[in-house]
Amino acid sequence: MGQKKRLLGDLDGVQFARSLNRRGFIGLSGALGAGALLATSLSAQAVPKIKSKAKIVIAGAGAAGLAAASRLSDRLDGAEIILVDGRKAHFYQPGFTLVAGGIKSADYPVSTTAEYVPRSATWIEEYVSEFDPESNSITTASGQKISYDYLLVTTGLMLNYAGIEGMDEQLIGKDGLGSIYHSPQAAAATWQLLDRFADSGGDGVFLRPATEMKCAGAPLKYTFITDDHLRRRDNRSKAKLTYNAHSGNLFSVPIVHEKLRMLFENRGIETHYNRVLSAIDPGKRIATFTSVEEGSVELPYDFINVVPPMRAPEAIRNSPLPWQDGKWASDGWLEVSKDNLRHARYQNVFAIGDIAGVPKGKTAASVKWQTPVVVDHLVAEIAGKESEMVYNGYTSCPLITRLGRAMLIEFDYRNNLVPSFPGVIAPLEELWATWVIKTVALKPTYISMLRGSA
Ligand SMILES: Cc1cc2nc3c(=O)[nH]c(=O)nc-3n(C[C@H](O)[C@H](O)[C@H](O)COP(=O)(O)OP(=O)(O)OC[C@H]3O[C@@H](n4cnc5c(N)ncnc54)[C@H](O)[C@@H]3O)c2cc1C
Repeated sequence: MGQKKRLLGDLDGVQFARSLNRRGFIGLSGALGAGALLATSLSAQAVPKIKSKAKIVIAGAGAAGLAAASRLSDRLDGAEIILVDGRKAHFYQPGFTLVAGGIKSADYPVSTTAEYVPRSATWIEEYVSEFDPESNSITTASGQKISYDYLLVTTGLMLNYAGIEGMDEQLIGKDGLGSIYHSPQAAAATWQLLDRFADSGGDGVFLRPATEMKCAGAPLKYTFITDDHLRRRDNRSKAKLTYNAHSGNLFSVPIVHEKLRMLFENRGIETHYNRVLSAIDPGKRIATFTSVEEGSVELPYDFINVVPPMRAPEAIRNSPLPWQDGKWASDGWLEVSKDNLRHARYQNVFAIGDIAGVPKGKTAASVKWQTPVVVDHLVAEIAGKESEMVYNGYTSCPLITRLGRAMLIEFDYRNNLVPSFPGVIAPLEELWATWVIKTVALKPTYISMLRGSA
């Protein structure tokens, strides 16, 4: 208990402010100042609205759908903007890691979709069950057929827990089986498990799936967070932590992989490559990994963070919209241009966010940079012009490396590091300022993005 109290004290803003050195403070104020400036310059584009009667359907009202609806409302006068999504709750998913790390409470990521639907848009509270781009229409779960002039596909992705033999979502939070991706409730239940594990120690097992996934940094962050909780309770020596990477790397950007490899080695986190979780036996607490070199590997666990395979929602996979061949075809990612996210075969269809079949970018940060590009192309077309805006693959990941420290990894399609605050926030340094960005500044920026002003 004393330890837990100390941890909360450590994480308290006042305590942090006291321990902040001058260099850190200057760095942070510079970073947040620059961030604010960036948001202002993007939002304050006083462009006259274009008059239009276009009918735009947005399938999915999560991060991308809401951000796009807000931006389109700001740019168009008279257009019919229809959001279609059956989910009433809105989840700030980057907050799931913080909930599962005992840093934020379970309600931190939760709000409602209704709060962000712009006044000039209509929200149909149903899921799309069928996409028919040949007839420019979608059909909702209740059978309502809606035609469109333009379609934005922003459905996000589907967590495929069934892809792991023996896995049952109902068991998350029981018998050491955690999963931070599932929901805020599952993230909170996973924290309860981690809290106990940090007291007792044992075998901790971490992994990522072999599919494309959203926020590939989250499983790594969570491994670091677990390590730090154990250390804070003087129980690190009682635990064995094993991270199982799906490929030969910990991270797709080589320089970041190398940094993480060193950090894992320094922290005593055993690392294995080319292992994919194929089955789990929750009763016996055994995770089975499949590996080309090692065959089948069984790992006992006292605590595991299951990250499921991910793929496109069923309605997309059953439609003509995904890639028809190549590495993104079987999981149903949308066949769009990586430069402007316009569909390769249906010119009036665009994708934004996790569903887009592009080489990088399944993060909320990518949504922030993809949305203005798509909106600009769509509005330009409505106005009879052409847009030259290009999405360069920008993705970012504030990678927590211990409580109170994080690295701000920002990169593009070409694996170039593209720091937003050069000279202030070094990408591969574990900084307190980056921790504050992740735990304090990102959520307001995200909410501004939903409202079209960041
Ligand atoms: C644990 C975790 C940690 C993360 N950490 C970070 C981070 O640190 N930084 C970062 O930038 N990003 C992070 N992300 C990723 C980020 O949250 C996502 O990339 C982002 O939310 C994607 O936005 P989206 O609109 O594509 O999908 P979502 O926000 O998931 O929204 C998709 C919407 O589509 C709806 N939908 C689904 N199917 C249909 C259908 N058939 N018809 C209609 N609607 C449908 C859903 O109900 C949902 O509302 C994290 C995610 C997780 C899970």
